[in-house]
Amino acid sequence: MIDFVFTIDYEIYGNGAGALDELVYEPARRLKQLFQDYQARFVTFVEIAEFDKIEAYGTDSAIDLVKQQIMEFHRDGFEIGLHLHPQWSNARYENGMWSLDQSEYNLCTLAKARITEIVDASLTYLRHVVDEPQFTPLSFRGGNWLFQPTQTAASVLNERGIKIDSSVFKGGLQRNYSLDYRRAVKNGYYWPFSSDVNEPDPKGTWFEVPIYTDMVPPWRMATSKRMAYATQYVIAGRSAKQKLTSAFDYLRFRYPLKLDYCRMTLTEMTSMVDRIIQEDQREPESYKPIVAIGHTKDLTDFSSVDSFLAYLRTKKIEIHTFEAVYPKILQMKAQADCVGSSYGESKVARHSSMVAPGESGKAKAANLKYVLITPARNEAAFIEKTIQSVVAQTNLPLKWVIVSDGSTDDTDEIVKRYAAEHPWIELIRMPERRERHFAGKIHAFNAGYARVADLDYDVVGNLDGDTSFDEDYFDFLLKKFVDNPRLGVAGTPFREESFQYDFSFTSIEHVSGACQLFRRECFEDVGGYLPIKTGGVDLVAVITARMKGWQTRSFLEKPYFHHRKISSAKHGALGIAYNAGRTDYTHGSSPVWQFFRCIYQMSRPPIVVGGVLCFAGFFWALATRAEKVVTPDFARFRRVEQMRRLSGLVNNALTLRHP
Ligand SMILES: [Zn+2]
Repeated sequence: MIDFVFTIDYEIYGNGAGALDELVYEPARRLKQLFQDYQARFVTFVEIAEFDKIEAYGTDSAIDLVKQQIMEFHRDGFEIGLHLHPQWSNARYENGMWSLDQSEYNLCTLAKARITEIVDASLTYLRHVVDEPQFTPLSFRGGNWLFQPTQTAASVLNERGIKIDSSVFKGGLQRNYSLDYRRAVKNGYYWPFSSDVNEPDPKGTWFEVPIYTDMVPPWRMATSKRMAYATQYVIAGRSAKQKLTSAFDYLRFRYPLKLDYCRMTLTEMTSMVDRIIQEDQREPESYKPIVAIGHTKDLTDFSSVDSFLAYLRTKKIEIHTFEAVYPKILQMKAQADCVGSSYGESKVARHSSMVAPGESGKAKAANLKYVLITPARNEAAFIEKTIQSVVAQTNLPLKWVIVSDGSTDDTDEIVKRYAAEHPWIELIRMPERRERHFAGKIHAFNAGYARVADLDYDVVGNLDGDTSFDEDYFDFLLKKFVDNPRLGVAGTPFREESFQYDFSFTSIEHVSGACQLFRRECFEDVGGYLPIKTGGVDLVAVITARMKGWQTRSFLEKPYFHHRKISSAKHGALGIAYNAGRTDYTHGSSPVWQFFRCIYQMSRPPIVVGGVLCFAGFFWALATRAEKVVTPDFARFRRVEQMRRLSGLVNNALTLRHP
């Protein structure tokens, strides 16, 4: 699958020359208009350091327009990425021109304290410009594409919450700045990394989504369009040695041609994309985010951009920002981890970091740190109850990320009100989507999960935005994790208006999805929630945890309140029963088990017919060979569990012992 990401470096010339209105504001305004005609959005890489200085020195009156425009981009979903040319940080304006500090040209070569200072100053100014004190960009691009040596700068940016770098162009080489992306040529369309951006590292907390680049013979570089732009970028004041070194960069058999929609001709772009499409047809299952780059200062040929957007539309290639790409990458990584492919982590038992058993649960519960994630889609009716329950906890979470999944009601407003008072509550917003299905909820969860990746927590909870509970609810569950180091998933039964979950046929090993707490190691073992469109996501996670050797448990003594009936609205009770049977089949249930479950179901409302429909749903799926959404291993494990439980139930019935 191909997704296109258009990025624009939003800045004047690297030596400080040029007017904001002509080089930044006006081209960006026209580009935005053009994209809006196609209902598309791009990522704006705002070179914030220069705007900070230009405003401070008052050298260009168009700075107000630029600030206004950045705010509008942010408001209208044109993602704001961080772009830094650190030579601006010490800039001075003298005798009518800018004097930039070229000794700070590459952020990555500076000392950690200095990097921190520059990054924090930029973020502070950016937050001021978008008028949002909590704002953190998702994506980063180094000035002049420099992101080597990676480790120090990456750790500073990653600590601030940035998750995606898009500095790399495969095959890139600039010996003057020790930029060498030649080793990245063998990498895929994106990769996690940690200490070196060239090297995929499955344990990395960052992703590189590189600027798309083809390696081409030298003559392909020499179109007249590109030559015209290149001559504008002559860096003044370079020594003869530097010029010679950079000349050597060009002595190559193959040269990296970036997908630059400002500098390439339409034919170049479409033939490049045609090759990507061919590759996608050969391996459609791999996700291919294709990043195109442009610069506001290069934007003159709007008609080529227009035609290119039209071409992408005819090819049915969607255009997204990183905000939409990121959850997909996380999902692909979770799947890869699960089947142990390319980015698969080694399945070593990671139980070493667990608390030693036998120690007093009471004393230790305070030491276990937890985070909560709440995907919320139009929950305005109940979310305040949930927030009040969490805020009142005797043991507060380290962080609670509420992910508004394209809510169109007051959900966001309510959450914002509380987030303003409680810094540990964070609201993030997913773009609006039309369909309502379970995979969407998981994408929202994963976006929230990404926000806590760097925090030092022990337990992660998935909490629905329509629940309420006692003020010692989480402390109660955390103690269970302390008491039993093998406990991987914990929860409690829920109550609705007139209904309490019945555990006589459902095992207490099941933890229902409206509130599930995972020990961190367990959640990582499981590979997180898998986005299954038909649902049962929470069930699959809990059973997978048991497959991996963890214990899972609902603690009956502390029920919570669930304010909305599970899957109400859409289907009536009969539809629910039929679908439950079908889902049991696609999620690997055993037919024998299903038979008994449905017999039991007949004794509960809707009497008889519910059980029959549940049975019908299962066997229709079986007869039509509906596609299973779980692996054969998972189905086998589940059937063995069910048969063991069934024989337990039969024994109980025979000896008249009540469970
Ligand atoms: Zn730049």
